[in-house]
Amino acid sequence: MNLNYRKDLDKMPSYDGTERDYRIKVNANESTLNLPPFVEERVITRLSRIAFNRYPNEEYSDLAEQIARNFSVDKSQIVIGGGSSEIIEKVFFAFGGSPDKKIVFPVPSFSMYKIYAKAAEGVAVPFELDENFNLDPDKFISAVKNSGANLAVVCNPNNPTGNALTVEQIEKIAAGIDCAFLLDEAYVEFYGKSAVNLVKKYPNLTVARTFSKAYGMAAARVGYMIAAPEVAKMIGKTFMPYHMNVLSLAAADIVYQMRDEFVPRIQATVAERKRIFDLLKNIPKIEVFPSETNFILIRSEKSEELNAKLESSGIGVRHFSPDAPGLKNCLRISIGTPTENDEVFAAIKKFVAEKLR
Ligand SMILES: *Cc1c(COP(=O)(O)O)cnc(C)c1O
Repeated sequence: MNLNYRKDLDKMPSYDGTERDYRIKVNANESTLNLPPFVEERVITRLSRIAFNRYPNEEYSDLAEQIARNFSVDKSQIVIGGGSSEIIEKVFFAFGGSPDKKIVFPVPSFSMYKIYAKAAEGVAVPFELDENFNLDPDKFISAVKNSGANLAVVCNPNNPTGNALTVEQIEKIAAGIDCAFLLDEAYVEFYGKSAVNLVKKYPNLTVARTFSKAYGMAAARVGYMIAAPEVAKMIGKTFMPYHMNVLSLAAADIVYQMRDEFVPRIQATVAERKRIFDLLKNIPKIEVFPSETNFILIRSEKSEELNAKLESSGIGVRHFSPDAPGLKNCLRISIGTPTENDEVFAAIKKFVAEKLR
């Protein structure tokens, strides 16, 4: 038998989603809490009324309409996907497709951009952030122009560095480039300053958002994008019919209706992030990067050993491989409950006292 796979498929990395069962899981920027009980109850009630025998009908449209209303845009400007991962993949697909389609994105940033660029048969053009992980909008604009890019991508606030551009800086980029611009706002709820309104002024801008982080719905796989109607229409063509299942759509619909219920926990996460940032800053030999998200990036000597130490006490953080560009010796720690955060902090402090003196 001769199994002839697509060209270069063998070179694509496999995503291994299986994880150890950590006692304190702060490695994936998830919400550490399940849905608020009151919200969960409404979700379960809604799910109990689903017609499992029918293809999705008005559920997609209902959620799109709710989202559109919130941003004061037309429903035709919303596309819903299986997590913002699917949205990002489809945007790359729509603007990639041949060796002349360059896709510029910052490094370090979301590691999947490089993989989506390859999957979309576009050409990845990494743009290096400076030593403090800042993105200079003018330099970024030049890089986009000089490479003749077809798509520029910015993650704001940025994962895994945690820092953010201002809406003015985003606008400068949107106005300064003459190609498609994808803004990944996976963590914007923790920052509070979205650039969605710029979609009305800049038809090249697409903003991707997710239910997975601030809204604690990572399991349901729901994300969406907001763009000009023509752009949304074109991206929409890249999806299969009925690509969203009714269970996820119905659950997201309730969560979105009840999104005010999430405000206190988002505020609590931000307060915890500030508290832990200050604590970490006082540990000698640990470099801490300012964050506008639900995680904090740190850099430390012997990071591999620190990671192993944390793992052995049941704490799972994100350790970057030594060849991840710009992230040597870095660990990313998601914000958990105050108790979890205290324990992670104490473990790091202990490691430094014992091993880095
Ligand atoms: C988590 C994350 C996403 C994707 O999340 P989904 O669960 O697919 O919605 C997208 N971009 C960044 C930067 C992320 O960190």
